[in-house]
Amino acid sequence: MTALDPGLGVDDQSVLDLLPIGVVVCTVSGTISLANRVAESLLGGGGGLVGRDCWELVEISGGQLPIIDRARRAAASGRVTAIEATGTARRDVDAGLPVAVTVRVMPDAERLLVTARPSGEELRQAVRLRATEDRFERLATSVPAGILSSDFGMRADFANEQASAIFGLPGEDLIGFGWLDHLHHDDSLAAEAAVSDMLADGIERAFPARVVTAGGRERQVRIRVAATGTLGRDVGFVATVEDVTENHDLNEQLLVQALQDPLTGLPNRTALWEQFGLALREGRTQPAVLFVDLDDFKNVNDSLGHTAGDHLLNVVADRLQRCARASDLVVRFGGDEFVLLLRDVPDRAVVDSVAERVLAAISEPIGVGGTEAVVTASIGIVWPGESDTGEGLDVESSVRDADIALYQAKRLGKNRAESFDANLRDGSVRRIGIAAALRRAIDADNGELTVHYQPIVDLAAGRLVGMEAMARWCDPELGPVAPVDFIPVAEETGLITPLARLVLRRALEPVAAWRRLPGAERIFVAVNMSALDLREPLLAQHVAEVLDGAGIPGDALHLELTESAVMADPDQALSMLESLKALGPSIAIDDFGTGYSSLAYLHRLPVDIKIDREFVAALDDESTALIEAIVALAGALGLPVVAEGVETIEQADILTRLGVPLAQGFLFSRPVPREEIDALVALLAPPPTPKDHVEGAVPDPSAHLS
Ligand code: C2E
Ligand code: MG
Ligand code: MG
Repeated sequence: MTALDPGLGVDDQSVLDLLPIGVVVCTVSGTISLANRVAESLLGGGGGLVGRDCWELVEISGGQLPIIDRARRAAASGRVTAIEATGTARRDVDAGLPVAVTVRVMPDAERLLVTARPSGEELRQAVRLRATEDRFERLATSVPAGILSSDFGMRADFANEQASAIFGLPGEDLIGFGWLDHLHHDDSLAAEAAVSDMLADGIERAFPARVVTAGGRERQVRIRVAATGTLGRDVGFVATVEDVTENHDLNEQLLVQALQDPLTGLPNRTALWEQFGLALREGRTQPAVLFVDLDDFKNVNDSLGHTAGDHLLNVVADRLQRCARASDLVVRFGGDEFVLLLRDVPDRAVVDSVAERVLAAISEPIGVGGTEAVVTASIGIVWPGESDTGEGLDVESSVRDADIALYQAKRLGKNRAESFDANLRDGSVRRIGIAAALRRAIDADNGELTVHYQPIVDLAAGRLVGMEAMARWCDPELGPVAPVDFIPVAEETGLITPLARLVLRRALEPVAAWRRLPGAERIFVAVNMSALDLREPLLAQHVAEVLDGAGIPGDALHLELTESAVMADPDQALSMLESLKALGPSIAIDDFGTGYSSLAYLHRLPVDIKIDREFVAALDDESTALIEAIVALAGALGLPVVAEGVETIEQADILTRLGVPLAQGFLFSRPVPREEIDALVALLAPPPTPKDHVEGAVPDPSAHLS
């Protein structure tokens, strides 16, 4: 600085401004008459330093007076021209900056030339800061996200190119509050709140928002803001802005998929849960629930094929929607199950009329693959007015109750609607208990499940010819459970298959021994089969194995099936029955007259007919017509007949007169344990009169059977 002219004038200001250190000219008492630009920024005098007190702006360690004194003495000696000192630049903006200071006395001896520059450590920090800033900038331009930053507050003072690209705006439009102003106005308040919270507590925030580009397009972004600077003093932020529009669209799509059934386009089960919850939260009246299930849809699917099945489901979905109002929700619950959620239902009559409309609409013929199919549906209704608790039901309980009511509708013959009531639930709770206990009993196979036998007699000869095996179950906790209670549960739960196997095996166990007794060589055991057993592809194979295991021929077994079991899917049933018959067993149609047997089918497959006990009970001398008709029909088709439920001598007499060959019922014997049958079978041995032995002659059955 040797070129520095002591007679420095205002014209030389520009030269001073080039210097990299702060330079101030002031009086000995401190009044500044000149300052360069660096001095201004270093000492923080925003409004210019001229006229201000230098010693207020720069606090010299140990005070300025000793330094000035030394400077004066140095000037007088003419050797050292500047005295070095350390001090603090007292700036308005921060706690003060350590500075290295030199003080020299100007030639006029009146004024002082003071220089100031950040002390060594500060300098290094400044360099480091500069490097950091460089690195930040390089980083900011290379990351694939928009970056906005601010030294202080919410106003951005930096925006990278990616940010401009996302916002569709030049960087300068984002500086200041611009970046917040270009968020969707529904999002900008929340964004501002997040940023100001972050500035206050220094905790990073991330939030979704929409950017509205200059072209008016919306982009979905995810913004993350983190604090920079010193908390409570000069906090700024760095914000990264990530464009997630594509992800977002994908998510929306996934959301739609998650709530929509792809086949029918109807809302799915998840949507039902949401909508139900929504209806409850909105505090509207409790929705009514109609649980709709197609009757025997499996048959349609199996016989017409899955494409036709899909078409049918779509048609049903359409019709259901037409039965509902706009405020209702039609849901595909799964498979052939649909749920109608009726909102704001004023009274019960509305629910019933919707149910009627649905039944009528579904049973209209549906064209599939050139033919017409007719399907029917069963409906379970939950109407909130009948909720037994008096409190609102949640979706879970509503759907469960509707399902229970649906089950009842199926039980009562399908193609109908049934409403839920608390008794039904008790029944279903009991069924659940039965299912669990039955499963355990089947697995344990420890004698809780046994077989009783009810004798079947030849009416004319009064002779035991066989017996029907009846499953019996005594659970340690539930006590004896009747077949009418546990067989349907076994069918619903799939337990019927292991149960049928267990019963078949147990029922046939003693037969070989019986058949070895004289007179009992042709004794047979009839075993009941349910419709579901017939659908078991391995049934015939299994029956063959059990016959084998029991060491008896096929004709020792009769299989009893109800009409409805056969008619549910006659073609499938017939082919299974044919393979069963090939093994030797006769097939008997149980409870004949209570269902709708097709004569054509009966003719194709020779079966025995078991006249239901309902007809036998109604039997008296005047009204024999029904049984006569059945006997005549059976005779015409060449089908053997058994009368069930014979309780009185009179009934037995009439049946004998009508030519019914075989009978069973309480008159002869209730179903009894195996040991009692052992005794009866032993009695079949012909009396020891070898001379004039008459085949088939046995004592009067009622004498030893009743
Ligand atoms: P089902 O096959 O028609 O059996 C005849 C039912 O009538 C038996 O009831 C029997 O005890 C009863 N019964 C017999 N004689 C008379 C009578 O003179 N008067 C009256 N009032 N009733 C009589 P149970 O044992 O309660 O069986 C009911 C039904 O449960 C059976 O009807 C059958 O469909 C089913 N079942 C029983 N065991 C099995 C089995 O092992 N498997 C399958 N799938 N079903 C079975
Ligand atoms: Mg039976
Ligand atoms: Mg029966």
